[in-house]
Amino acid sequence: MAIAYIALGANLGDPASTLPAAFAALDSVPDSRLLARSALYLSAPVGLTGQPDFVNAAARIETTLAPAALLDALFAIEQQFGRLRGERNGPRTLDLDLLLYDQQVITTPRLTLPHPRLHLRAFVLLPLADLDHALSIPGRGTLAAWLPAVATQGIRRLDA
Ligand code: ADP
Ligand code: MG
Repeated sequence: MAIAYIALGANLGDPASTLPAAFAALDSVPDSRLLARSALYLSAPVGLTGQPDFVNAAARIETTLAPAALLDALFAIEQQFGRLRGERNGPRTLDLDLLLYDQQVITTPRLTLPHPRLHLRAFVLLPLADLDHALSIPGRGTLAAWLPAVATQGIRRLDA
């Protein structure tokens, strides 16, 4: 049994209802179970401005799926929520990124673990900190150590 962390993001449609439904979809992934969910956060878009703000969150799951199979399951959920792949960093109904899979380090064209940008983004780090403030990121120390560096990024915790 492995523990995996997943980032959820949405900025098209009705993100405030997409994200709770996406948590339920994660709990329904075969051979997997949702263990914990973060609060929802509102963040300004990164890289491509002039699009709606994002709602972000993170989930901790328990799974017996291998990392590549879990990524396939995440892509299937994105599709189920109507995601059309467009511009990088562009608007989307649902983005699911695999952040961590136990302490595994993987570098393939399809899957990089830990997620290569997770330590740089407030919209990933703050939801993750809800789940485990002391989380270890292979090759990058603890999550908590990266929080000060993202303190100026525009993000707001939404009331539950
Ligand atoms: P992004 O999430 O970077 O905004 P996409 O969701 O369109 O963009 O993903 C782009 C590609 O990133 C996907 O084709 C996927 O194979 C690859 N990828 C590499 N590592 C990961 C990861 N840890 N989690 C999710 N996707 C990943
Ligand atoms: Mg993605």
